[in-house]
Amino acid sequence: MEINKLKNLLEEFGENVRFEHDLKKKNWFNIGGKAKVFYKADNLKDLVNFLKKLNNEEKIFILGAGSNTLMTDGLFDGVVIKLSKNFNNISLLGNDIIIAGSAVLDRSLSDFALNNNLSGFEFLSCIPGTIGGGIRMNAGCFGKEFKDILLSIQAIDKGGNVITIPSKNIKFEYRNNDLSEDLVFLSASFKGVKNDSDKISKEMNKLKAEKEKNQPTKIKTSGSTFKNPVMQTEKKVWELIKDSVPLDKSFGDAVISSKHCNFFVNRGQATFKDMKKLIDFVAKKVLENTGVRLEKEIKILE
Ligand SMILES: Cc1cc2nc3c(=O)[nH]c(=O)nc-3n(C[C@H](O)[C@H](O)[C@H](O)COP(=O)(O)OP(=O)(O)OC[C@H]3O[C@@H](n4cnc5c(N)ncnc54)[C@H](O)[C@@H]3O)c2cc1C
Repeated sequence: MEINKLKNLLEEFGENVRFEHDLKKKNWFNIGGKAKVFYKADNLKDLVNFLKKLNNEEKIFILGAGSNTLMTDGLFDGVVIKLSKNFNNISLLGNDIIIAGSAVLDRSLSDFALNNNLSGFEFLSCIPGTIGGGIRMNAGCFGKEFKDILLSIQAIDKGGNVITIPSKNIKFEYRNNDLSEDLVFLSASFKGVKNDSDKISKEMNKLKAEKEKNQPTKIKTSGSTFKNPVMQTEKKVWELIKDSVPLDKSFGDAVISSKHCNFFVNRGQATFKDMKKLIDFVAKKVLENTGVRLEKEIKILE
């Protein structure tokens, strides 16, 4: 839709709707241009209203913590929706069920579980995303994934209809699932197992230490760039990259992490094009050298 038409259509959302809004600071790579429309959804009622107004006529991208997303340097010709802190609620239901809003950070869910003597959530202390991003990605580490603790999700489709989906009706795969791209996740319920808080805390610290030892932290990255090609080879993706690519290869400020070669890093002023070139270069070299066609784990918004 043309921008002036959108400005009229979305006037009632006031300051929560921004036009040609900067995306660079909204993702871990610290790369990006502008979104034609950026909408901070304050609550469910407003979100339903907003989606109905758009009437499915715009490309929509739901942004979590931006820890798995590479964003275009140019103008994203669509609408980016970010859930506000009102989607940050977290509560205990009965003894062992936690309900968390989609904007809750994984590590906050992990801390909440610890404070309520529930285990099963320890791995989440190592993933820097939100619940929404974790559901979409079936995020995981140390042999655990979202699917292992998820009971159900609540979501809204782009027509504004709110639905609940039990996790047994969702087909999960490694870093993927069959949930429609059309859904905005609102909240989720999870089941834990009662345990001693000291044991839970010890396990969390062990996993965090392990993660810190093997993967870079506190840098501009999106974590693993490619998925492990589990159907094609038993080798891990980092092994394929290490065997196929000169690890000092860079395009502008887009470089390969010296700590983990499946983590790509913006060491300063990398652009979308720099990072994209590095991603394509690595995929091409791995294919030439090993015959394995890598699939991207990170999401690209362009
Ligand atoms: C240092 C570092 C370490 C990492 N380690 C791991 C790891 O160990 N394991 C792992 O699996 N990942 C890891 N990641 C990747 C990333 O943290 C996960 O994929 C995380 O789940 C992404 O969540 P997010 O909120 O940042 O999602 P975003 O990057 O914001 O979005 C990712 C996808 O989720 C969708 N999405 C987000 N919120 C919603 C919503 N409410 N409704 C519908 N769709 C939504 C987006 O549209 C997009 O398609 C790491 C990343 C970094 C930077």
